[in-house]
Amino acid sequence: MAKFYVLIGPPGAGKGTQAKIIAEKYNLVHISSGDLFRENLKNQTELGKLAQGFMTRGELVPDDVTIGMVRERISRPDCKNGALLDGFPRTPAQADALAVMLKEFGSKVELVPLIDVPAKDLIERLSGRWTCKEGHVFHEKFNPPQKAGICDIDGSELYQREDDKKATVENRIKVYTEQTAPLIEYYGNRKLLVKIDGTKPIDAVTKELLSAIEKV
Ligand code: ADP
Ligand code: AMP
Repeated sequence: MAKFYVLIGPPGAGKGTQAKIIAEKYNLVHISSGDLFRENLKNQTELGKLAQGFMTRGELVPDDVTIGMVRERISRPDCKNGALLDGFPRTPAQADALAVMLKEFGSKVELVPLIDVPAKDLIERLSGRWTCKEGHVFHEKFNPPQKAGICDIDGSELYQREDDKKATVENRIKVYTEQTAPLIEYYGNRKLLVKIDGTKPIDAVTKELLSAIEKV
């Protein structure tokens, strides 16, 4: 049966960083809703144009739009063995929709690791974040690329995200607390949540995550 995992945590917790490592290890597709929106934005699709304002303000894109986009992605053949979801769901309504769509595909969420990092660390994480167009993530202090401005993995250029500016980050953290943090109780009640200490170095966080996944 296909296995689906959901990574949750505040912006800057390390979801994208860990998702890339874990997805490769288990040969799972990595689905980042933020990356899907950025791809649409770059290609100036209708979806991208619709999402742009919300993203720039650090708000959530409306549920119906987001759910439709992820549903389309999950229904592609490369997800037949499952996927690692990063940044989706972000509201209880999205979580309900995910449960329904996975049921249709004869599957379910296996585990929801929460990468826990206190708000005080997030601004430093995000203001030093550098990303490539494939979504490989670096940090100028905590995980610097070998050559400044160049992705170690595919040699492409690194850039800083528009929405990683301090004012936008503050709003994204507020939005997380108000709209996404309720998922902690949501998945806790369903016995799917496992808390991971995201303040440790990247490889220590990976170890904790792998051990949680191996247990299910
Ligand atoms: P998210 O996807 O949750 O928003 P990222 O994976 O993009 O977070 O990580 C945010 C920033 O923090 C990146 O610059 C990344 O290199 C850095 N980072 C990720 N994990 C850690 C960690 N365990 N310790 C220090 N910095 C980290
Ligand atoms: P991320 O790359 O996960 O930090 O997401 C970047 C931005 O994309 C967010 O601030 C939102 O505007 C939008 N976004 C990503 N995922 C979702 C989601 N599941 N629901 C609503 N908006 C989202």
